[in-house]
Amino acid sequence: MNYLRMENLALAGKRLMIREALNVPVSGGHVTSDARIRAALPTIHLALEKGAAVLLLSHLGRPVEGEIDVQFSLRPVATRLEELLGREVRFEADWLGGVAIEAGELVLCENVRFNRGEKSNDAALARTMADLCDVFVMDAFGTAHRAQASTEGIVRAASLACAGPLLSRELDTLEKSLHDPVRPMLAIVGGSKVSTKLKVLDVLLDKVDELIVGGGIANTFIAASGYDVGRSLYEPDLLHDAQRLIQKAHAKGGSIPIPKDVVVAKSFSPDAEPLVRDVIEVAQDEMILDIGPLTAVEYSRAIAGSGTVIWNGPVGVFEFRHFAAGTRAVAEAIDRSSAFSIAGGGDTLAAIDQFAVKEGISYISTGGGAFLEFVEGKSLPAVVALQDVAGD
Ligand code: AMP
Repeated sequence: MNYLRMENLALAGKRLMIREALNVPVSGGHVTSDARIRAALPTIHLALEKGAAVLLLSHLGRPVEGEIDVQFSLRPVATRLEELLGREVRFEADWLGGVAIEAGELVLCENVRFNRGEKSNDAALARTMADLCDVFVMDAFGTAHRAQASTEGIVRAASLACAGPLLSRELDTLEKSLHDPVRPMLAIVGGSKVSTKLKVLDVLLDKVDELIVGGGIANTFIAASGYDVGRSLYEPDLLHDAQRLIQKAHAKGGSIPIPKDVVVAKSFSPDAEPLVRDVIEVAQDEMILDIGPLTAVEYSRAIAGSGTVIWNGPVGVFEFRHFAAGTRAVAEAIDRSSAFSIAGGGDTLAAIDQFAVKEGISYISTGGGAFLEFVEGKSLPAVVALQDVAGD
């Protein structure tokens, strides 16, 4: 992909505006998980080392545009950023009219989503933001799939726009591993619904040597294979699509395995009693909430034998202690394996944290929706804009 990279630009004395995705969870005015802030630190360090005056932009949550709502303020992020950097981070609540800033200074601007026109990619808003800087740096992979004023519009409006190191590393890694993977390549796609991941399943089937589905998605495939899933979460409307995908896998000489054994419960609750069942023995009043131990071993073996593993979504209700073992087994098998592994998606990141397997995963994507759209082969509007302005 051809776009300008921040690493290659001389930035001394320039006003740099960097779009990050610092949309971290905040509770009681404090940041409760700072992973996204930490991910942006190398970019911030590099910008300051290069002698730029740095304005940081981000969104947080989904506030109503035009309304200042303190629960979506980035002020707690500024505080956490100060702690992590050990230096002053000036917070600017009111910045669209202009910000006085010197080289070597760092300013965090209030939530871009407080501005009217952000979501609709208003050209005037994008121009106003672009006029505040000499160079715009798009570094937020997690929002690159949205054409908004602070992601796509501003790239086109800025006098110079480039990709930041976090974004370009993410794009390089995903591109390399999807287009030129070490084989065999395995994808594990879990989560609640087939409907949200139908396209990605379809595309992955074309690319991978093996596809494992998990969670509520697997339940739909179990039902599509003719087994009773009792009261499990599944999508009757998508049985036909699941059957089509199973046939597509067969036509390629592969399969989409369904779990041999599952963990079921009579209610969806953390205290529900877990029972291991053969998948063909699920009763009418039971719901499948995890894969069983035999299946966990089988999937772990598949992971161990792979050259590349893409992981998105849990294979069970990992938030409930009794139904976390399957997702733990998958996470730990990826952790142990020597495969090049990529994990992405909100719940996947939560599972990685929960099972402390971060170190063993080759690349953890910061984007949820953007990660899936990239895997689907869709172009990401902010990246297309970066390519356009670079004359690609
Ligand atoms: P998603 O947001 O689509 O990635 O789905 C993630 C959610 O799916 C997690 O909160 C899991 O608890 C949930 N999940 C995984 N397996 C199941 C299952 N068998 N039944 C219901 N929910 C599940």
